[in-house]
Amino acid sequence: MKSKVVLLRYGEIFLKGRNKSYFEKLLIDNIKAKLSGIDCEFVRTQNRYYIENYDESLTDEIVRRMKQVFGLHSLSVATKVKTDYDLLNEAALEYAPDVNTTFRVTVNRADKSLDKNSAQIGADIGAYILKRRAGYKVDLHRPQLEIKVDIREKGFSYVFCGIEECAQGMPVGCSGKGMLLLSGGFDSPVAGYRMARRGMQICAVHYHSFPYTSEQAKQKVIDLAQVLTAYTGDIKLFIVPFTQIQFAIHEKCRADYMITIMRRIMINIAERLAEKNGCGALITGESLGQVASQTLQSLTVTNDAVNGLPVFRPLIGMDKYEIIKTSEQIGTYKLSELPYQDCCTVFLPKNPVIKPSLDIAKKEQAKIEDLETLIEDAIANVETVELSPME
Ligand code: ATP
Ligand code: MG
Repeated sequence: MKSKVVLLRYGEIFLKGRNKSYFEKLLIDNIKAKLSGIDCEFVRTQNRYYIENYDESLTDEIVRRMKQVFGLHSLSVATKVKTDYDLLNEAALEYAPDVNTTFRVTVNRADKSLDKNSAQIGADIGAYILKRRAGYKVDLHRPQLEIKVDIREKGFSYVFCGIEECAQGMPVGCSGKGMLLLSGGFDSPVAGYRMARRGMQICAVHYHSFPYTSEQAKQKVIDLAQVLTAYTGDIKLFIVPFTQIQFAIHEKCRADYMITIMRRIMINIAERLAEKNGCGALITGESLGQVASQTLQSLTVTNDAVNGLPVFRPLIGMDKYEIIKTSEQIGTYKLSELPYQDCCTVFLPKNPVIKPSLDIAKKEQAKIEDLETLIEDAIANVETVELSPME
């Protein structure tokens, strides 16, 4: 008997405390959801999980999916064999490529009924490999290659080599739900990813100024949210018609304060939608100083339009370069790069205020006398798109 398995290790910190069973249940549910459509067995042991009994041609696909599950720390593709010295030798040899290298075999033995101890078993397997690999030398302290053998209690063992990093973080669902302000740019999808990595479930809101922004711009945001579902699970995306509000701002307010007021209204609508949908926080892709609307003063004036919910800005201290790098890693870069106009760029003033005053912003905003009606109308006409992972 010999088969491939995927061994999963979870981040330990959050699994230690009194809430261990809660976190673990979420993590396991998320792993199982991610394995949907793949016929396999999920095995839980004391401190690891194994995915077993699947069609081996699916190993890479399982690895790819597991790397998108927050809360998993690392994984290894391993060989499962019956605990038999000959079978262990053979399985270990498969992890020893035909090149010159230093190596060691590390054995962890849970099965205490065997006639040899871990060190002896490791030495024997090492000797077996040494005979068959000309360029090999044992180095117990700093080997280039370490083959691990994990001998379990019930008559079987796992052999593997190398550890691949997973996405880390906390299982999605353990930190409540956040409303992500999702534009078509590079930043906000990364912000959503970051908060999901801390365990937040994600809802998203997008402001759309049809016909000044195109159907393609809207589709781009739907596609971005779809990519995010690979990490976050289901996302409810609210598309808010924003044209009338933008018209009103354009008509009534000082040009240099247009963006400031637009952002205040956006975040205020987001908060209302958040409260309606059980979200305990707002999430934006803002990064300090990146543009005029993201200076300390601008952020202060925007924040004033929020009544109570915390606003999470996970990218606040990140450089654009780092944000772009993450967007490449998570697969949103190619979509964000598409050139469709966002509502922020419609009616854009030439010189937006860099250090807005809260007083002026409020006074200018108050000039839109029917703002409350406009906001209620926009919310009443929200289009809801429910997205689920594609697997
Ligand atoms: P991004 O790359 O995320 O679009 P940006 O650098 O273009 O960000 P802004 O346009 O100032 O910066 O937007 C700052 C944040 O405001 C965005 O990260 C996003 O959270 C939110 N936002 C901007 N435009 C929209 C929109 N049309 N719909 C929803 N949220 C938006
Ligand atoms: Mg933008």
